[in-house]
Amino acid sequence: MHHMVVPPGQHRLLPLPYAYNALEPVISSRMLQFHHDRHHKSYVEGLNKAELKLVEARQAGDFSLVKHWERELAFHGSGHLLHSIFWTVMAPPGMGGQPATQTLEKINSYFGSLRAFQEQFSAAAIDVEASGWAVLVWQPAWGHLEILTAEKHQDLTQWGGIPILVLDVWEHAYYLDYQNRRGDYVHSWWKLVNWHEVEQRLLLAMRAQIPITSVTWRAEGKV
Ligand code: MN
Repeated sequence: MHHMVVPPGQHRLLPLPYAYNALEPVISSRMLQFHHDRHHKSYVEGLNKAELKLVEARQAGDFSLVKHWERELAFHGSGHLLHSIFWTVMAPPGMGGQPATQTLEKINSYFGSLRAFQEQFSAAAIDVEASGWAVLVWQPAWGHLEILTAEKHQDLTQWGGIPILVLDVWEHAYYLDYQNRRGDYVHSWWKLVNWHEVEQRLLLAMRAQIPITSVTWRAEGKV
């Protein structure tokens, strides 16, 4: 296994792993083509642009637009990641099989039953306010699956990232000491960082070996 390395601005829109009409009648050819070729493509382009603008900002030492480009990075990055997964967790009708051993065990042990899982997942998806996603995640910190939802899809994150170093900038984290001077808190905070722990977390995260997509049924030559 090697780690995929995508340099700034080098994300590509991969073709769908099936024909545009492969998901009919559930999703029409026209809908799927529009969704992939227009919408997903715009996320890839937006992500590339945001990454390159942040390269420019680092080189110039000018972070005056960092808030804007961080938002663009999150919006387009999450859009690219989630759509990439979305395409590959679907298959032509009747070709997706049944939940396999480990999937079923983890679903049963946490949600009680496949039926309960599907009911909660559906209800969560239906109740997402405005645009968004329902997401089944594996939470490595607690060793179980969980159902999460995302309004819109970014919430200023990129799904799939494993936290390495985090800084709490909620007011409760600094207000008694710094009042409204968050900048002073942030700049001082660097003196506290445990870089040994950061290195350990990075090494553990790099073991994850989770490609964002894995289309096993295509690899088996079923399509
Ligand atoms: Mn979409």
